[in-house]
Amino acid sequence: MHCEYEEPVNVSALFGSMVFNDSVMRERLPRHIYTSLKKTIEQGSRLEESLAEVVASTMKDWAIEKGATHYTHWFQPMTGITAEKHDSFISPIADGKAIMEFSGKELVRGEPDASSFPSGGLRATFEARGYTAWDPTSYAFVKDYTLYIPTVFCSYGGEILDKKTPLIRSMEAVSFQALRVLRLFGNTTARRVITTVGSEQEYFLVPKDLYRQRKDLIFTGRTLFGAKPPKGQELEDHYFGNIKEQVAGFMRELDIELWKLGISAKTEHNEAAPAQHELAPIYNTSNIACDHNQLTMELMKKIADHHGLACLLHAKPFAGVNGSGKHNNWSLCTDTGENLFEPGSSPGRNAQFLLFLCAVIKGVDEYADLLRISTATADNDHRLGANEAPPSIISIFLGDDLMDILEALADGRSLKSSPGKVLEIGVSSLPKLPMDSTDRNRTSPFAFTGNKFEFRMLSASASVAEPNIMLNTIMAEELCEFANILEKADDFNDTLHDLLAKTYREHKRVIFSGNNYAAEWVREAEKRGLHNYPSTPDALPHFSDARNLELFRKHHVFSETEVVSRQEILTENYNKAINIEALTMLDMAKKQILPCAIAFGKHLTDAYMAKKQCGLDLSLEAEEGLLKKVSYLSASIAQKIQALEAKVIQARGIEDVAAAARCYHDHVFAAMQELRESCDELETIAPENLWPFPTYSQLMFYV
Ligand code: ADP
Ligand code: MG
Repeated sequence: MHCEYEEPVNVSALFGSMVFNDSVMRERLPRHIYTSLKKTIEQGSRLEESLAEVVASTMKDWAIEKGATHYTHWFQPMTGITAEKHDSFISPIADGKAIMEFSGKELVRGEPDASSFPSGGLRATFEARGYTAWDPTSYAFVKDYTLYIPTVFCSYGGEILDKKTPLIRSMEAVSFQALRVLRLFGNTTARRVITTVGSEQEYFLVPKDLYRQRKDLIFTGRTLFGAKPPKGQELEDHYFGNIKEQVAGFMRELDIELWKLGISAKTEHNEAAPAQHELAPIYNTSNIACDHNQLTMELMKKIADHHGLACLLHAKPFAGVNGSGKHNNWSLCTDTGENLFEPGSSPGRNAQFLLFLCAVIKGVDEYADLLRISTATADNDHRLGANEAPPSIISIFLGDDLMDILEALADGRSLKSSPGKVLEIGVSSLPKLPMDSTDRNRTSPFAFTGNKFEFRMLSASASVAEPNIMLNTIMAEELCEFANILEKADDFNDTLHDLLAKTYREHKRVIFSGNNYAAEWVREAEKRGLHNYPSTPDALPHFSDARNLELFRKHHVFSETEVVSRQEILTENYNKAINIEALTMLDMAKKQILPCAIAFGKHLTDAYMAKKQCGLDLSLEAEEGLLKKVSYLSASIAQKIQALEAKVIQARGIEDVAAAARCYHDHVFAAMQELRESCDELETIAPENLWPFPTYSQLMFYV
């Protein structure tokens, strides 16, 4: 462990110490500039150029004090990770010396050569220019001797090429519509509605030296081969178990580095699978939470290395045990601090809560495909529907008490919990909802957990941007529809009552309280007419369905070209992921596994011959049996290698990306599974000293 982290730390002094945050700005910026900047941050108004000059210079001086020599426009292209290009502050002056400079222009706008970022046909490579623009709503920070400026990224023509811009647009859209609804309930003080996100992050830690010996982990982030170890997660002794010293050291350093960046890492524990862990921060505004989650993932990988560990963020690093997800806790909150998913204490507040709740129910039912699409990646295809992970069908869990309220409302009957009392919107108080009545269905992909919704379908490796773009835009649409009706109502309470009852009746099919992991649910969901897109190639084509294009256009989140380009990028990403996996598999099978099978065969033949020649009448049963089995497996591995190679060539020859995706899924991936099966079988009989790479047992149990 780095000794720095063994000392006691003063967390309150440390927290946010590397962030150019509100208190630094207030302290260092001239008053009128601070006020304008704050207005820009809070209300999205424009910052004048002359002010940017002062902010840049102040930011630079602060960053230099923190040890920075460089600055970078930090952005989130469609690769799913972050991108940065570093420039130093250095500017040469006459006498052969240099000064440190940073202009307002350099702060506000960058012009990276962006031709190598995915653009889905939006930007021809000859038009290499892309623009990054400062996003003042997310604070700049210093890391690795560099001032990081969070930015958005777009093409020369202004089309968005990143994940942050649409997220910010979707936040604007939902804020606008939510305010319309709040005004109807007499709220005149709120000026913005903010979306909040808390993302619980799961991950695996494996020994670094073993990781380095597995090309599959290095190139694809998951094991492409591996027989089940004698022990898996069946004893349930890892979940919340005590944390091993090496892991604890990692967590401590991670916490400290996150805290310095103002990231409120809060909860850490062991997860269900061996070597699996989780970190949860305290929630934040969506776009900041998105930046913070990216930084968290990056630091996890980097800091693991300091402790002889490798951090795996793949959704399914190991077959047969739990995969790693990311839980996206999401809520809406006014700028005056009112959580709109908090069941209220007064009749009026309750009616408002029920309206926001019904908007979610309707939205999730109508646009379940978009939520599914936002979690559709090659890595997540292995996780959804497998060990302790939600299926690819979207449904909502509300808990019995809320269901009782909505049922009573829809049927005009009294509550089960207080018989004889008919619920009157705007007049009756809701019965108190005990916290425990929600959040107890861990199998639901989308659960109401007391005062927020928890979307559990995300892969651990995913950016939280996409799901939140979808959630916010869907919510904007439903609130817009509700506001259109209610703004025209003669009798507000009556109209509201009917609207809630009708919405619930029409969309209750998306609510499911049972076990989402059970096979019966798939059949039941089909009967209810719910979407089920088991794989990424099933889901992605629906991104550009006409009604989805209209949704994004209406709320100014994506233009049609932007949706089409993103769909193409996401499909290409899928194809590339499977292609890399197939090639890695072929490489390992040809250079490591087949040679092991042949060596093992030779070993057995030698032993067999030697025994035979020694002239004694000895049993050759074991040698013979094994030799036959190994010969059979070697032949089958050789055959399956050829079959996989042929499928890869077939898929790579398909030009249309969607058709290629189908082929990668139906043929390449299927051939990979076949090859794996024989190799894993060989692993169960091969001598340990001949097996060419570390096994599941070693990877999961040797920390
Ligand atoms: P669990 O029961 O799943 O372990 P918690 O209730 O402790 O989780 O919260 C999980 C995550 O939800 C945390 O990151 C927390 O900050 C976040 N969270 C809590 N309230 C909100 C909210 N209003 N909006 C968004 N996220 C929230
Ligand atoms: Mg959770």
